[in-house]
Amino acid sequence: MASFYLVSLGCAKNLVDSEVIIGGLTGAGWRLVDEAEEAKVLIVNTCGFIQSAVREAIDEILAMARYKEGDREKFLVVVGCLVQRYGQKLADELSEVDLFVGTEGQEGFAGLLDELLLRGEAARRLVLPGRSLMSSASPRVLTTPSYRAWLKITEGCNNHCSYCMIPAIRGELRSRSLDDLIIEAQRLETLGVRELSLIAQDSTAYGRDLSPDVSLEALLRRLLSETGIPWLRLLYLYPTGISDDLLSIMADNSRIMPYLDLPMQHVSDRVLRAMNRRYDKRQLVALLERIRGKLPHIALRTTFLVGFPGESIEDFLEIEEFLRDQQLDHVGVFAYAREEGAPSARLKPQVPAREKKRRVSRLLKLQAELSARRLERFVGKVEPVLIEGVSSESDLLLQGRTRFQAPEVDGCVLINDGMANPGDIVQVLITEAMTYDLLGGILDEEEGRKGNAVP
Ligand code: SF4
Repeated sequence: MASFYLVSLGCAKNLVDSEVIIGGLTGAGWRLVDEAEEAKVLIVNTCGFIQSAVREAIDEILAMARYKEGDREKFLVVVGCLVQRYGQKLADELSEVDLFVGTEGQEGFAGLLDELLLRGEAARRLVLPGRSLMSSASPRVLTTPSYRAWLKITEGCNNHCSYCMIPAIRGELRSRSLDDLIIEAQRLETLGVRELSLIAQDSTAYGRDLSPDVSLEALLRRLLSETGIPWLRLLYLYPTGISDDLLSIMADNSRIMPYLDLPMQHVSDRVLRAMNRRYDKRQLVALLERIRGKLPHIALRTTFLVGFPGESIEDFLEIEEFLRDQQLDHVGVFAYAREEGAPSARLKPQVPAREKKRRVSRLLKLQAELSARRLERFVGKVEPVLIEGVSSESDLLLQGRTRFQAPEVDGCVLINDGMANPGDIVQVLITEAMTYDLLGGILDEEEGRKGNAVP
């Protein structure tokens, strides 16, 4: 039984692709190993949408290539967005690599590796299959902790933001069918998944390429009625795609987390236009008002891209003012990266790197203050917390997340009293708020029932 070792880079959507690759290979009799030394085939599933990710991928590939040195029986395979973006140019530059496969090749992956083992160097090539879409029939092995999983509902994107290479790498929007997603969600539920996070490039675009009765709202209704998964979470929502119907479904169903991840990218109308984002600040303010009108206690996450070409200090200060006014819960801030091939690469003037860095840290500093203040509202409250296990900070503490904290990107709850197992959803009395994290103790069932959670 041949063995393989896989490194998965980039976003959660790419991780799902890695899980399908692992499922396909183990289903075909391959063995996944934890150490690169042990593996016959080394696989790097790459990210490639911005230069920092490209550099990280190249570094990882070269690190894996060192395991091949002196061992002609070992193979190195590179897949994913970097291959899809750079194709033959990459293949010409990286002679250490034996096989290159683009973003669409997960399904027939085992066959490609079998051929590689059979023919060795003769099988060295670049494979860029046509656009495809994973389905519930795709064998998938979860790599996230068993109590949570990502549900990738679409592939590709039609929004064409001027700074983004994803449409060029991942192609046009392709939505999976409602039935297919329900089958996968039900399977994940049988595997013990308690928190299912819906992911896409733009989750609000789900179904637009299918038919009017296929939508994010329709998907949520079916997930609520055809699964018993206690926590459903919505991520990557384009601001103009938030319907009143969606907000009503969220307000009426406590199994949908009172949480929205709304990448805004900027608030200056001039910069938003240059980014080809289809909204302005007035619409963003009205949107948050509408959301909070329906869901007063909702947690809001967003990301901002600072240092976009032509961004003046006044444009930048608009974001600061917006953060102070809107008091968001979780904010990611990234420096604009000029990407060859993206329309914005031609825009002028480019903001100097040092100035971009200064603007990023200024926003992060402000948000740290705002986050600490926002978290105070939980002190004295009893909140349902999904236990993740022993804390990474101290094995005297357990760690978990509230409904208002998404996996991998937001803060957590540190638990200094009480015991529970990973995947348990327990009542926790919050005793302290920190900059991004909360502290509290698990209540016994009786006490928990008396809880006063944020609605
Ligand atoms: S919504 Fe914009 S930023 Fe996001 S993937 Fe699509 S084109 Fe890129």
